[in-house]
Amino acid sequence: MTEDRIQIHHGLCGICPAGCFITATIREGRLLKVEPHNGHPLGMICHIGRHSPQIVHDPDRLLYPLRRSGPKGTYQFERISWDDAFNTIVSRFQEIKNSSGPEAVAFYTGRGSFDMALCDVFQPADVAVSSASSVLFPFGSPNTLGVGALCYVSFAMIAPHVTMGEMLVTMEADIEQAELIVIWGAIPPPIHRR
Ligand code: SF4
Repeated sequence: MTEDRIQIHHGLCGICPAGCFITATIREGRLLKVEPHNGHPLGMICHIGRHSPQIVHDPDRLLYPLRRSGPKGTYQFERISWDDAFNTIVSRFQEIKNSSGPEAVAFYTGRGSFDMALCDVFQPADVAVSSASSVLFPFGSPNTLGVGALCYVSFAMIAPHVTMGEMLVTMEADIEQAELIVIWGAIPPPIHRR
């Protein structure tokens, strides 16, 4: 294995919404290791981020839709296309809505590490938060559930919503207009006024 097949890229860890600045080592298309981006003020990593190559290349990682093909509990599934998956979900939703009303449908989204892609990167434009606002609520059901994360739900959803009326993802720090800035737990580089 020659060294020139090894690529080093700086980027963001996408495992959770914190988006830590990392350096990824890639060899022949495979993520070998993920480390903090040295020298960057947000260059840090937690254990989950450090082990993200195991998540990315897990042989059991779900990469395409599966439909149960045997009795419940027997773990028999068959691969189906994305179009088939979408059409199946839409027709089942409509059946349930027609027979029992839209509130009989609930969404459960997310996974253990609450990845960034689900919540922010692929979030439709002009919605408050994720798929519930753009799909479930217009459908007529309020029943959204999810993995949640103690940190993200508190600092990015509940706290900004009850104090400022918006989710953190829709807000930007207006440092230039601020009269008082409280900095807690960090010594940032000097902030220069233009
Ligand atoms: S999983 Fe860890 S390293 Fe990755 S963004 Fe979240 S806190 Fe940062």
